[in-house]
Amino acid sequence: MSVQTSDIDEGIAGDFAARLLRWYDASARVLPWRIAPGSASVPDPYRVWLAEVMLQQTTVAAVAGYFARFTERWPTVAHLAAADDADVMAAWAGLGYYARARNLLACARAVVAEHGGCFPDSETALRALPGIGDYTAASVAAIAFGQPAVVVDANIERVMARHRLIETPLPLAKREIRAALAPLVPPDRPGDFAQALMDLGATICTPRSPACAICPLLADCRARGRPDIERLPVKPPKKAKPHRHGLAHWIERDAQIWLVRRPGKGMLG
Ligand code: SF4
Repeated sequence: MSVQTSDIDEGIAGDFAARLLRWYDASARVLPWRIAPGSASVPDPYRVWLAEVMLQQTTVAAVAGYFARFTERWPTVAHLAAADDADVMAAWAGLGYYARARNLLACARAVVAEHGGCFPDSETALRALPGIGDYTAASVAAIAFGQPAVVVDANIERVMARHRLIETPLPLAKREIRAALAPLVPPDRPGDFAQALMDLGATICTPRSPACAICPLLADCRARGRPDIERLPVKPPKKAKPHRHGLAHWIERDAQIWLVRRPGKGMLG
């Protein structure tokens, strides 16, 4: 008897989350902003949000020290909201993309001014805050507040594109990935589910040489055993990059270099 796609889908929906969470309960990464699975503690939305903002375009290893210093110096969103802009910028130095630091401050101040110092718990209200886009709103809603939000970061994209053998190139594939993921989110542990997929993508379903043999999703992964597995998710064709040549110029006067701070928005803001 042949197995229909709908049968596979039903099987996937049935125990995908259970298998993933069993693996997560045993193998979750220990991260300073995270509550271990099964812990009696409740996640602190401030720490979840701060980590998510820091992790945008930055690795976990690079963020750990910054996260420790920030939370020691500004332990709550109210402390951060009251911080001096220059102190926060200096503490951020080295993490890059300074627009994120400016948005961090603007968001902390909005949480204090508009929400009494407590992060709102819905994706919609979170998305209305400065610097919080779709991904951060979903991850904070799921991880900090247990909302059944669909969280899709680069690790999750890779796991789902492989598991469901999605051949559509990114970014178009995002819609298919979300549609595949949405019915799988367990209402009782949406935050752990998102973090489990992130961990699986970071440690097992890695961009190169995924460790399929020990993957909890192996049984119904449609990409398993394929020699071209690393091709997934399919990237968009690369645009030819223009070559530009230039020189740096500066003005010196009285043994000082004149500098101008660029506008906060736009190129190299
Ligand atoms: S079986 Fe392999 S390709 Fe499929 S999700 Fe697991 S690690 Fe990724």
